[in-house]
Amino acid sequence: MNKLSDRISRLAESETLAMTRRSRELKEQGFDVINLSIGQPDFNTPDYIKEAAREALDQNFTFYPPVNGYADLRKAIAVKLKRDNNLEYSPEQIVVSTGAKQALANAMLSLVNPGDEVIVPAPYWVSYREIVKLAEGTSVVISTGVETDFKVTPEQLEAAITPKTKVFIFSSPCNPTGSVYSREELAALVTVFERYPDIYIISDEIYELINFKGKHESIASFGSVKDRVIIINGVSKGFAMTGWRLGYCVADLEIAKACDKIQGQFTSGACSISQRAAIAALNTDPAGSAELKSMIATFRNRRDLFLKLINEIPGIKSNVPDGAFYFFPEVTWYFGKRYNDMVISNSTDLCNYLLDKAHVALVPGEAFGNPDCIRLSYATSDAELIEAARRIKESLALLV
Ligand code: PMP
Ligand code: GLU
Repeated sequence: MNKLSDRISRLAESETLAMTRRSRELKEQGFDVINLSIGQPDFNTPDYIKEAAREALDQNFTFYPPVNGYADLRKAIAVKLKRDNNLEYSPEQIVVSTGAKQALANAMLSLVNPGDEVIVPAPYWVSYREIVKLAEGTSVVISTGVETDFKVTPEQLEAAITPKTKVFIFSSPCNPTGSVYSREELAALVTVFERYPDIYIISDEIYELINFKGKHESIASFGSVKDRVIIINGVSKGFAMTGWRLGYCVADLEIAKACDKIQGQFTSGACSISQRAAIAALNTDPAGSAELKSMIATFRNRRDLFLKLINEIPGIKSNVPDGAFYFFPEVTWYFGKRYNDMVISNSTDLCNYLLDKAHVALVPGEAFGNPDCIRLSYATSDAELIEAARRIKESLALLV
């Protein structure tokens, strides 16, 4: 009998976290590695949020919180949904979790039976398909390319639907492409969903605040599908709080209760101190916060800077990302080229080469369902971005 379960053998390691681990190991060996592999803001958590956590400690918020989250945090999320998204939800429809990642896992495990199909447009975020596997569902991948700004069309969506389709999962703003669906693009997808009332939509909106295009559009704002949408969000990206591990899902009451039930058996809920800090974060109106506006402006400037720099590298073809903090350029021009005896056959080879030669950590597109591309996170300083682009350009020039 095998020591480990079949379930764990089938599961892939998170490639984003794996590349970050490799980059950390090289750094520990004394190499000057620039890590563009992890998707996390490099800003410190704003002081007023940290202050709320200190107060929580002083006030002894150190006991088990309610499984689905403190009532006043869920109320703050309901107020945020009304204020920022014009969406009406009651606090009972909200479940607070240990990061958006756990919120996603709860939702998937609540909805998917073995053999159910989950439509996952590629490029997708690394963990979606692995979470589907854990739920014993089957992923049905829709491929999209740089020519359509990596967005799925209504025709592609309809063609992927079968009687077994249970869930459609996507992110906008998207990790890894930075693409942002417009209201019109979402409306076109909604027209398809209206014809298939048994399909649930997991809408991952964790990059809501990092959007250079204007107003965030949630698919939940379409009344005809709202009851079937599960919004996933959290404080990791917009408030620079990745380590606090605080996310949430918003869904119809039955699904919210199911997520609560799972969480009650797996984690008992999210960290009490993080929850108190999240109230301070989510009470912030992004439209009136100079601190948040300045973070977004910094990301935007970095996007413009890095886009200019990577466009100067031959053979790299990128879209202009409207949100999040990633580039996902196509790099097939380098496939088949070599450095000494080493042949670059795919994006994993290219990322390994760039890590070893340029000491720049990136993530191969394979991890996101598109082996023609690589992902670069630009959530770092201008100086590091300039140096990373210089090293990448120099190392790629050595491939013949
Ligand atoms: N969804 C997407 C698209 C992400 O990029 C991330 C990154 N961590 C998550 C979910 C998970 O977020 P969290 O840190 O809140 O678990
Ligand atoms: N979401 C980030 C990323 O895609 C963090 C890593 C992870 O959670 O996998 O890099």
